[in-house]
Amino acid sequence: MIDIKTIAERDRSSVLHPFTQLKDFASGKLGDPTIVTGGKGISIRDAEGRTYIDGFAGLYCVNIGYGRTEVAEAIARQAYQLAYYHTYAAHTTEELAKLSHRLVQMAPGNASKVFYGLSGSDANETQAKLVWYYNNLRGQPKKKKIISRERGYHGCSVISGSMTGMSFYHDQMDLPFPGILHTGTPHHYWGAEHGESEEAFSRRRAAELEELIVREGAETVGAFIAEPVLGTGGITPPPSGYWREIQAVLRRYDVLLIADEVICGFGRTGADFGSTLYGMEPDLVTVAKGLTSGYMPLSAAIVGEKVYSVMEGAADRVGAFSHGYTYSGHPIAAAAANAVLDIVEKEQLSNRARVVGAHFQKRLKERFAQLEIAGEVRGVGLLGAIEFVADRHTKRRFDAQLKVGARISKAARERGLIARAMPHGDILGFAPPLVVSEGEIDEIVELAYQATRQVIDELA
Ligand code: PLP
Repeated sequence: MIDIKTIAERDRSSVLHPFTQLKDFASGKLGDPTIVTGGKGISIRDAEGRTYIDGFAGLYCVNIGYGRTEVAEAIARQAYQLAYYHTYAAHTTEELAKLSHRLVQMAPGNASKVFYGLSGSDANETQAKLVWYYNNLRGQPKKKKIISRERGYHGCSVISGSMTGMSFYHDQMDLPFPGILHTGTPHHYWGAEHGESEEAFSRRRAAELEELIVREGAETVGAFIAEPVLGTGGITPPPSGYWREIQAVLRRYDVLLIADEVICGFGRTGADFGSTLYGMEPDLVTVAKGLTSGYMPLSAAIVGEKVYSVMEGAADRVGAFSHGYTYSGHPIAAAAANAVLDIVEKEQLSNRARVVGAHFQKRLKERFAQLEIAGEVRGVGLLGAIEFVADRHTKRRFDAQLKVGARISKAARERGLIARAMPHGDILGFAPPLVVSEGEIDEIVELAYQATRQVIDELA
């Protein structure tokens, strides 16, 4: 029997929780921590016996759902056989070689090699170093700046946190780091001028990117990093034509494209990768989350042939590739990833996300589009969001003090649904496990709708 009180007290007195108001947590104003004890399919259970439909797959990662014993068994098998060995100086394991081979086969762009980390943040940190390394090796030592987008999310470490384009991730943390720049967010709803079409808006964003590159000097700009679908910044699919226009600019100025597929990768959008869906041809690809469905911490920086060939070509001159972590390519994480990708393939989860995702998008629009505070209902595949505004005709935002997004998320939670209040604006986000059924989608949409109605009544 779990002693809930003791766990809560120990936690409150000793855990520094990410993204938590520290004083409100310490004082108990936020209530006790939720002690998560189990999960099955699309639901989790807490220590008090409550179950919640996890409409956000943890943090957009548990794509295969909770409690998959095939993965637990693969983890146990590897742990019994060999729990750890490093990958420095050309050491490997069978699971790691297998995983790397399949990632090179399936990844977008002209993939050549895979470097492993433990989180999306550290993988993007690696990508920055690869851009700098590549340009040093090919005799372009000034070509180091990296451009990301306002409202892009790429992690929380020093460089990845700088790439993240939301100021509250920077404030009081001395970020962004010099050399990391930001360009406009590809969100038509907020960014378009009156009557501007999506295509025209995309061209304008591409022109702004070009202007920035020219202003900085193309010889100083190394890479552009972006999520195929903007994630934490609001779950915003790109406006039509966006990726075609952006890539034309990058090619013109010899700027590498890093596709941050941490959310989109492995089926989330209804295609294997967001890059595939939008015709992106990245030079470097970042994956994490769906790679192991969160069953083990694992990320990868997938290096395209263009960058890798320069690295190999310079090896006689510069010596060994001096980058790596104790846990790069951890065998248990690799075994978990292989078991997860087996499920993704066997159950055709990309295709499932496309079919069930179409139902999800339709239901979300049907239920919310007429609601007076639903400014925009958007999404792709099994990623969706509703943006709430005080006046949908003028797009006037709610007073931030009202915390409308957070209140709707809380009301949903009280009904047994986890849907995330996204950090930038009054946005309710959804990213259910890809194994979700159409019936479960209907339940998720209905619970979210009821929660929204409750808050509309409170605001009246
Ligand atoms: N990149 C994207 C697109 C993400 O959504 C995230 C996390 O949400 C990250 C990078 C950072 O990953 P992690 O939290 O594993 O460091």
